[in-house]
Amino acid sequence: MQIERLENWVDGHKKPLIISGPCSVESKGQFFSSIEQLDLSKIDFIRGGIWKPRTRPGSFEGIGKEGLTLMKAAKKEFGIKVCTEVASAEHVEDAIEAGIDLLWIGARTTVSPFNVQEIAGALKGVDIPVFVKNPVNPDLSLWKGALERLSKAGITKLGAIHRGFDSLQKTKFRNVPLWQVPIELKSEFPDLPLICDPSHIGGKRALIHDIAQKALDLNYDGLMIESHINPAKALSDPKQQLEPKSLNELLEVLEPRDATKTDRVFINHLEIIREQIDQADREILEAIATRMNLVEKIGEYKKENNVAIFQLSRWKEIFTTRPEWARSLNLDPEFIKELYRFIHQQSVQKQTGIYKEGDKETDLKE
Ligand code: PEP
Ligand code: MN
Repeated sequence: MQIERLENWVDGHKKPLIISGPCSVESKGQFFSSIEQLDLSKIDFIRGGIWKPRTRPGSFEGIGKEGLTLMKAAKKEFGIKVCTEVASAEHVEDAIEAGIDLLWIGARTTVSPFNVQEIAGALKGVDIPVFVKNPVNPDLSLWKGALERLSKAGITKLGAIHRGFDSLQKTKFRNVPLWQVPIELKSEFPDLPLICDPSHIGGKRALIHDIAQKALDLNYDGLMIESHINPAKALSDPKQQLEPKSLNELLEVLEPRDATKTDRVFINHLEIIREQIDQADREILEAIATRMNLVEKIGEYKKENNVAIFQLSRWKEIFTTRPEWARSLNLDPEFIKELYRFIHQQSVQKQTGIYKEGDKETDLKE
């Protein structure tokens, strides 16, 4: 994919890129007053949804095309750039005609290659930045697929927005972040700007600061954060939007991080710690190899004695004691439980192999 770097197309761009504004454009009064109180010197694009994909009918579906007129007027009034979500070829055509500066594809659209292809078709020959939100399910190929379809249509000012993923499990997040998914995307396309949307990940105001800071700590290129003049009365996403004043304060306290540093002292010190980490990793691998040799031994012994591989009481013991040992070593017990699930799986697989080998020998003898 040919990707234009952010600094080449955002005037005076300083990391992070900031997009803010209401979830939905509701009326001229609401939209203009939401923008008016924002510190526009710190914001690169004002957002506003006008076609709102709702899970069920009957909720507020956006004011539609009329919103484009308001966005156009706001551009003029405040001298700002504006962006909105598009979900069809018609939306793209209308948004481009209205002079919208950046478009994004929403999470519910990214899941549908037909819709994305239709949008890409409407963007052929148009030079406009387009960001793609992650699909609602954690499927990296769908996300990449949408970006590739836009890239094939000639869009080079591409970006990805991480807004979290649906989960059946109840968590404190509205959409679980699964940070490893966007990180994998970024490692494959290092030039692709990666923006975090803490509003849709958190779903509530109280979580936004920490999610946004974590994104900056992970070297994200920007943030999209919803803000509204009167969040409690917002027609969509009332719990997660920040008042303009709080958004300004948030931008003051967030700490951007340097991608890396080039000075010798920093690099040398990093090298020293990395060597120690390499050594620790070697020791971990050696310990795993020792464990697996013991697993082989016990597998053979169980087989000789004709007992089942899986022993529930032992399994229970491992999953009780290891998290306890972890806690005493200041390690997260949940992390260690997860790690032992993998180790145990591998150990069962190894023993199954030993039992099967025996079968083969018997087969041969027969
Ligand atoms: C939005 O940005 O308001 C929106 C609908 O987001 P998402 O596509 O991430 O749900
Ligand atoms: Mn929203």
